[in-house]
Amino acid sequence: MTATNSHKKAKALKVGSRRPAKELCSECGLCDTYYIHYVKQACAFINQQIAELETSTHGRSRDLDNQDDLYFGVHQEMMSAKKKQPIEGAQWTGIVSTIACEMLTQGLVEGVVCVQNSEEDRFQPKPIIATTTEDILGAKVNKPTLSPNLSVLEQIETSGMKRLLVIGVGCQIQALREVEDKLGLEKLYVLGTPCVDNVTRSGLQKFLDTTSKSPDTIVAYEFMQDFRVHFRHEDGTVEKVPFFGLKTNKLKDVFAPSCMTCFDYVNSLADLVVGYMGAPFGWQWIVVRNDTGKQMLDLVQDQLNTQPVDSSGDRSNAVQNSIPAYDKGVTLPMWAAKLMGVVIEKVGPKGLEYARFSIDSHFTRNYLYVKRNYPEKLANHVPEYAEKIVSQYTLPD
Ligand code: FAD
Ligand code: SF4
Repeated sequence: MTATNSHKKAKALKVGSRRPAKELCSECGLCDTYYIHYVKQACAFINQQIAELETSTHGRSRDLDNQDDLYFGVHQEMMSAKKKQPIEGAQWTGIVSTIACEMLTQGLVEGVVCVQNSEEDRFQPKPIIATTTEDILGAKVNKPTLSPNLSVLEQIETSGMKRLLVIGVGCQIQALREVEDKLGLEKLYVLGTPCVDNVTRSGLQKFLDTTSKSPDTIVAYEFMQDFRVHFRHEDGTVEKVPFFGLKTNKLKDVFAPSCMTCFDYVNSLADLVVGYMGAPFGWQWIVVRNDTGKQMLDLVQDQLNTQPVDSSGDRSNAVQNSIPAYDKGVTLPMWAAKLMGVVIEKVGPKGLEYARFSIDSHFTRNYLYVKRNYPEKLANHVPEYAEKIVSQYTLPD
């Protein structure tokens, strides 16, 4: 049986009814398609194979003795950037949407996999294959919930498209890379964002209700480099809540189990990554992983202000101290949380050191979660680079 026939046969399994990763499923969408046939190999939560896929995608896996590679993955260059003319309503300045629009209008691709929101709910994801710049711009801003972006994969084959851009987060891209050569494409471009602490739609509501003064008017939010969550409201106001004041005891179960076991914060397998956490406040952080990523970035260089990445401060003590505090669900009174936020913003880690702070905090937390809840997965599921990062810290049992 050919690969095409065998994956189509898998459609006979009731589509959408199966999630082999069970509670660890991140709803990436692969299992809503006949590519479910490849799930045991492709699913990021069943078969962790980042080093192998780095080699097939970028020509090498990360060099664990190189600190930047260890933390940020295979790359040719990193920089801070912002659009000279930001796109209003984008998550940051809209670099992701701009690259996608240029790739479409300049004819590099025929379609763009991205995620709009449903008509009824601004945070309910609706993946699409965009074929116009209006559709791409309709997908701007994060849908901060698990999103089945790969659920549109079958449409690629039926549409006859040969050149495609996929925008997505790490778990989606890991599964995509595994099935990439089965999609009948001549060229696939992957534009990734970092991702951490994602939630189901109901988990998101709990987070917003517990943390914001006006959950119904929020249009976007971000865990910012100034150690505060910034909630952007409909009327343009920004509400800031210090990380250290979050009601950790109430929010402990809010993050999806998939995200509590994820070690691909930086989207290792994308050609180009656009985030914010390695950049100064107000700037976006760009990681060019390979020649394809460089080609994508070059399309928009004239629309960007850029500056080299920078790094200052020392994250180590802050990470070590946060491990038992998170573990015990400690919540500071708001005045103390605000004070701590102000102090740490002044003297705390900045630029790439802030990114390392965030990676270390999440990897240590997730390592403990896997060890306690899925001890049988620990050896194979935690990539070697993450083990090396976690080994710098003393963890509770
Ligand atoms: P825009 O031009 O506004 O475009 C946003 C793009 O994101 C759209 O193309 C849309 O299709 C896509 N998208 C929206 N929601 C999802 C989703 N749920 N799954 C997949 N794709 C989606 N960056 C960091 O540096 N550190 C972080 O911790 C971090 N966490 C993130 C968590 C989530 C759930 C997401 C989606 C992104 C996260 N990012 C993080 C990336 C960052 O928030 C911005 O998305 C990125 O910098 C691009 O901004 P922009 O203005 O260029 O994007
Ligand atoms: Fe399937 Fe994706 Fe869920 Fe894994 S994460 S079980 S590939 S839908």
